[in-house]
Amino acid sequence: MVGVPMVDEEITLKITLKNLYLGLKYQLPLRRFICNFFITKNARGLFHPNSHISQGSGELKICYNHLASAVKAGESMERKYGGKFRPYKCFFCDGFHIGKNRVV
Ligand SMILES: [Zn+2]
Repeated sequence: MVGVPMVDEEITLKITLKNLYLGLKYQLPLRRFICNFFITKNARGLFHPNSHISQGSGELKICYNHLASAVKAGESMERKYGGKFRPYKCFFCDGFHIGKNRVV
């Protein structure tokens, strides 16, 4: 019996210092930072792997290389689905993803 060797690939997610720094920086100015981490708490999810991996499908979220393209895609999703879609700098990779905010 011929078999294809199975590669048991485990995805290891690491928050690099660079991406943590950039991710926190993109939450500025300070007023927004405080609001996102301590009032609406929307930004706390940035530390969770689901900020990088889609919770529903388990696949990697769409990665945008630039903030501008993520903003544009977010606006398009708002028109299509309604609600508030906001781009964020991912702590786990070099790109940006789009998240749907619960609070306006
Ligand atoms: Zn990511």
